[in-house]
Amino acid sequence: MFSLKYRPMTFEEMTGQPHVRQTLVNTLFRRHVGHGYIFSGPRGVGKTTAARLFAKALNCAEGPGPKICNRCPACVEISGGNSLDVIEMDGASNRKIEDVRALRENVRFAPTSGRYKIYIIDEVHMLTQEAFNALLKTLEEPPEHVVFILATTDPQKIPETIHSRCQELEFHRLSPSDLEGLIRAVCQKEKISIDVESVGKLAEWADGSARDALVALEQAAAYSESDVREDQIDRLFGWVDQKTIDTVVGAVWAEDRPKMFEVSRRIEDEGRDMTHFLVQLAKRLKQMWLAEADRTAPAAPGAPAFDPDSLLRMISSLLESERNLRSTRQPGLFLAIQLIDLIELKRQMPVSEVVRRVEQLESRLRSAPAAGGGGVAADDSSPAAPPNPGVNVNQLWSKLVEALSSSQASLASHLKEGRPVECSAAKKTLTAVYGRQRSIQQKQISADKNAALIDAALSRLMGSAGWHLDARIETSGDAPGAAGRGVKDIPSRVRAGAELLESRGVARRE
Ligand SMILES: [Zn+2]
Repeated sequence: MFSLKYRPMTFEEMTGQPHVRQTLVNTLFRRHVGHGYIFSGPRGVGKTTAARLFAKALNCAEGPGPKICNRCPACVEISGGNSLDVIEMDGASNRKIEDVRALRENVRFAPTSGRYKIYIIDEVHMLTQEAFNALLKTLEEPPEHVVFILATTDPQKIPETIHSRCQELEFHRLSPSDLEGLIRAVCQKEKISIDVESVGKLAEWADGSARDALVALEQAAAYSESDVREDQIDRLFGWVDQKTIDTVVGAVWAEDRPKMFEVSRRIEDEGRDMTHFLVQLAKRLKQMWLAEADRTAPAAPGAPAFDPDSLLRMISSLLESERNLRSTRQPGLFLAIQLIDLIELKRQMPVSEVVRRVEQLESRLRSAPAAGGGGVAADDSSPAAPPNPGVNVNQLWSKLVEALSSSQASLASHLKEGRPVECSAAKKTLTAVYGRQRSIQQKQISADKNAALIDAALSRLMGSAGWHLDARIETSGDAPGAAGRGVKDIPSRVRAGAELLESRGVARRE
């Protein structure tokens, strides 16, 4: 097995966990060896491997020290698992007090040949309370030559009394790049050819576990006769390929419901892993969300440019589907409905947009009689703004959004999250405010490149060069009726309520 064959033989060979390696090496270097260590962290990240390396370093004929010779009898015996001075126990199957009592008897005897007697107890959190108590007695008065290494995936279950007598080293999930490095190194030694996509997929699937990565690699190598290609591992593990993910994203954008039925039927017929598919799809949308939130340049023409809010709604829906998938008896149909739901989520309008439209309508209603009387369409919905004869600031705003929406769809969608408050012909400035929760959009449209695009469109609309959009974050003074003036108070309350709902992620329908 690769995971045994390529088990690290020295601290330098350990995959990831640089902080653990550093601590152990320093301990050995200074010879400040304690009696109790807790190695905590997820499964398959190298806890028992590190424990054995530490044991070797303590008993190596050339030690104790961070250099492990791997040639002396102590090293060879520990590697082979037959050293009398390194006792490995599994906490799950030796969890009773009798087991720990036997251990306590054993602890009293001096090491057979090495300097230390090292007890490695795996899954130590499985011990019973009585067994922990017995272990505690040993840890309270440990013989000079004894070192305990308690490995666990669940350190919270270890009693505080034990914790306080041990030094805890936390092992982390390995990063995808650590795992990719490990996979490549093993492939090189095993003369396995593998494409870059497969390396990435195996590393991602292993989810931080070196053991899982190597087990999967070994299966893939056997299946493909040492020539691992992406389509083969997709078939072997029942993973849905990237093309299908692209198809689904495209179908959400195009609102193509029949395509969703087609894709889900194919996934079911081919017996692909639906859970894996939903997670991969969610990850793809997350990448798109990050790109959207980061975007300072306009999207590539033709590429789906979802509104960031709808991406978040879709991601959370997919993760919930992934949880519910296990309990359904009709997985194919369930999947189709989940995919079609994505289209609905994409179409949903944010509450802020609804409020904006209501306000626009209100202002149009109010300005109608004024326009009939004196031909002045002053914007009455923004009492904070000085009247600006001849220009309806809301209409101007709608025109600006519209002007940008054909060529800069995502920029336009950011823009319309704001609310126009003032248009000053003297300063050639249109001022708009963004709610605090719209600071991302405000930043986006204020970015140099985007601001230039907006200012150009605004200048075209106003028929003269040099116009500028001033997009600000809303302060309490900007909210219409913030001081509480009768009926004008209502829009700001609606908006405040709407933003509250949004901030709590309450589902909303168009
Ligand atoms: Zn040695």
